[in-house]
Amino acid sequence: MVKKMIKDKELLKGQGRLFIISGPSGVGKSTVVAEFLKRYKEAFNLERVVSYTTRMPRGQEVEGVDYYFISKDDFLYKVDQGFFIEWTEWGDNFYGVSKEVVEGLDQGKNLILVIDRQGAREILKVIPGAITIWLYVSDLKDLRKRLEKRGSEDEKNLQKRLKIAESEIREEEYAQMYDYHVKNAELKHSLALLESVFKQYISVEK
Ligand code: ADP
Ligand code: 5GP
Repeated sequence: MVKKMIKDKELLKGQGRLFIISGPSGVGKSTVVAEFLKRYKEAFNLERVVSYTTRMPRGQEVEGVDYYFISKDDFLYKVDQGFFIEWTEWGDNFYGVSKEVVEGLDQGKNLILVIDRQGAREILKVIPGAITIWLYVSDLKDLRKRLEKRGSEDEKNLQKRLKIAESEIREEEYAQMYDYHVKNAELKHSLALLESVFKQYISVEK
């Protein structure tokens, strides 16, 4: 795991901590976060931020757990209403995070959010105390294999995702924007690394 020099990320007393997870499509963000929550939800008093998307649910995805799946009309209506703290068009769909995330933190909840790089940048402007974690694999070929194994994309969408992935990986190599880089090779190992990161910011309840 590579750790950047982290500037002061103090919080106001009683405020929860936000952890942002990003990484190229297929790297394993959803898998890692789901497994992490299974094991550490209670210990870290942690909740996942469920964002909104206009894309169709994948096989195992559950409404309100993985995303709120809404129509493009509903999404754009929410944009007009100022509902989102951040939103973006990614691939052919919209994705957005509700402003409720700020209320959650104010209530002392620790939150975990899976979001793309652009989104992470926007959220950091509003929530500078967020800890950012970049998941990666050493070879682009592994991403293709994982996406193929997931079986969620046709070849055209898979190509699109790999193209975005390539530019995101290049951008992070150059910008080093994230506080931590975690290689998602063996899941067990990734979870242990994440645990060590979270422990630095949240005292574990016995
Ligand atoms: P993302 O949310 O980043 O797009 P997913 O969590 O959907 O990625 O994972 C993509 C595919 O990779 C899934 O088939 C998942 O089972 C697999 N996967 C996730 N983590 C690992 C890992 N550490 N090693 C091998 N395969 C993995
Ligand atoms: P996927 O379709 O694979 O679930 O997500 C595509 C990309 O959108 C991923 O990089 C994911 O992290 C990102 N994403 C998910 N929700 C949001 C969000 O609310 N805002 C932004 N900016 N990106 C999001």
